Amino acid sequence: MDKLSGNCECKKVSFTLSNEITYFSHCHCSQCRRCHGSAFGSYVEIERSSFEYTSGVNNIKIFPSSKLCERIFCKDCGSNIMFINKAIPDKYYVSIGVINGNPKLPEAHHIFVGSKASWDKINDGLKQYEEYPINNNNE
Ligand SMILES: [Zn+2]
Ligand SMILES: [Zn+2]
Repeated sequence: MDKLSGNCECKKVSFTLSNEITYFSHCHCSQCRRCHGSAFGSYVEIERSSFEYTSGVNNIKIFPSSKLCERIFCKDCGSNIMFINKAIPDKYYVSIGVINGNPKLPEAHHIFVGSKASWDKINDGLKQYEEYPINNNNE
């Protein structure tokens, strides 16, 4: 299988993952904004079974940001590795900024646009959802 690699900024945490990305989103919710220190967090959805740590498993820290979500980051450099949604047990949502090389990406969507920052102007023409797009699957 076509594999990608990734690592945190201090390189203690590294991993491989499948290049079969099933979803790509820019999340504008207040938690992603704070955790990334930016206008939004960008994540790719992959099968959990395709993700493997190659170093630094003991260097990750888990922050439970809500009942369902856990955010995984490097405890030394603070890089956001991924978030986990306990309601979706077969997927991981890996921060795209920690992935190396050229991931094959589906078109991105903006999600939780309803809670974006007032100064955040989205003008890239991509689809926007007020919340999570699962609510709009019947379109
Ligand atoms: Zn690190
Ligand atoms: Zn979010």
